[in-house]
This record gives sequence, C-alpha cells and structure tokens, in this order.
Amino acid sequence: MASQHIAINGIPLDAGSTTRGCLMGPDAMRVAGLNAALEDLGHTVSDLGNLNVGRPANCHPESDACLTREVAAWTKTISHAVACSLSQQRVPLLVGGDHAMSIGSVTALASHAKTLGRPQFVLWLDAHTDFNTFETSPTGNIHGMPVACFCGLPGFEPLLGPDHDAFVKPANVLMLGIRSIDDAERKLVRAHGIGLHDMRSIDEHGVVGPLRTFLDRVRAENGLLHVSLDVDFLDPDIAPGVGTTVPGGVTLREAHLIMELLAESELITSMEVAELNPSLDVAGKTAQVAVDLVASAFGRTLN
Ligand code: MG
Ligand code: MG
Repeated sequence: MASQHIAINGIPLDAGSTTRGCLMGPDAMRVAGLNAALEDLGHTVSDLGNLNVGRPANCHPESDACLTREVAAWTKTISHAVACSLSQQRVPLLVGGDHAMSIGSVTALASHAKTLGRPQFVLWLDAHTDFNTFETSPTGNIHGMPVACFCGLPGFEPLLGPDHDAFVKPANVLMLGIRSIDDAERKLVRAHGIGLHDMRSIDEHGVVGPLRTFLDRVRAENGLLHVSLDVDFLDPDIAPGVGTTVPGGVTLREAHLIMELLAESELITSMEVAELNPSLDVAGKTAQVAVDLVASAFGRTLN
C-alpha cells in the first residue's frame, strides 16, 4: 500500500461507560509498539500525544449529567483534532478511549466529507451496534450510542450542540461481528437500514463477501472510509482487555483478513481503535493484538 502520513491522537476518554480504565488504552497501544509498527511499513507517523479534557466542575463525576458534559467536551476536542489532521492531509488514527470517542471523530469526518461533496462510509467492527439513544438506552452509557448520534438521530444536542448538520447515512454504515443488541436498539437499527452482518451471518458466509461488496460501493461512489474497531469485536479468548466482552466473537484470522482486504483496497481514509481497557488485559495481550490489526490495515502482510 502507498505510504501515508498518519497522525495519531490518543484519546484517554472513559466517561462513556461505567467500567473505567479505557483512558489507559492509548498508552498501552504505544507500549505495544504502535508507532514503530506503522513506521516499519514505510508510513510517516506524527504522534500528537494524548488529547486532554478536564472533568467538569460542580457536578458529581459519576452522575449522568456530569458524564454527558464530559463526553460533550471530548466531542468538541476530538472533532477539532480530526479537522486539524484532515486539513494537513494526514490520515487520522485515533486511539481510545471508549467508543463514545466516535461521536467526535465521525461527526468531524462527516463534516469534512460534506465540504468535499463526497459520501462518508463507516465500517463498524463491534460486538454491539451502539445504536441506542438517550431515550432507548437501558444503561444510559454513552459508549452505546455513537452510531445513532453520528447518523443524525434526534436527541443528541447535549453532545453535539444545536447546529451540527453533517451526518453519516445509515445505509453507508456496515457493521460486522454483531452479537449483542438491546431490544429497542434492534428496532432502531432495522428502521434505519444499517447494513449489518452478525456473527450468525459470518459463521455461514464468512467476512469476505459482505466486505468486498461494501468496499466496491465505497469505490464506486468515490467515498471516504472510516474504520472503527471496538476491541470487543474479537473473541474474548484473544482479546480479554475490554469491559464489554461477549463470547463467540471474531477469530484472529478473520479479523486480520478484514484488515488485509482493507489495506489491499487502499480505501481507508481514517481509523480508530476503541474500548481497549488495560486494567482488564492479560499481560498486554489485547493491546498487542490491536496493534497488529492496525498494522494489517495499513499494509502489513504475512509474506
Ligand atoms: Mg462499541
Ligand atoms: Mg462493543
């Protein structure tokens, strides 16, 4: 794959979930050799360090109102960082942090795509659809809502402000690896026409067919492609370092095959890794798997 200039932002955000610890994710990925893995592939890497957002003042840090304010502050900061990288023609690589990070990243990408007049596509690799709203969520955890938010469902003004007007079309999202959806969320996913291949579908048909069809569409429509990898996409046996493990996930080879096909396509314009929680990891094993998958997505091959 052609050499890229990749801009890394660490996003130590863990206000979107009740299991804290994802804020250590970016540093665990660096310790596992993220930057060198990309440089070894011939890419130029600018590691811009970790973004920083203070805890909101005058509220109980674990209250819903306070967590919403904190995620709103992160959304603004992440959005700004992504816009900066894009304005410098760099490929944003965002290392989280819980999946609430995607609210800032993908809405910024959607705004950029809108200015270019090109469609934004999102490949969502996750055990969960993350398509809840504040109204439907059984837990209130914002890391279960980013896709609904960046697809423009109503009710997210507390996170995006009143004026955000660039969203991703639900039909331009492909989800792979899904095996946990809340009841109300399932109705929303179906009603909005999100492209979805759950584990049942992967068991039967594999990952290649649906992914190739999606990539062909991205290419045909001259689209931009963001890849969002939630660590719980993988089976917990290979990736235990995540707060929301669901058994029966994607195997290591299936995950690498997806990344290798993405690299081959040369269509990725941005990527993020979410939900790595080093406090739940076993000797850095999950961080290493995540680094290896990012390397595959950026061109590492087996021979
Ligand atoms: Mg997720
Ligand atoms: Mg998940």
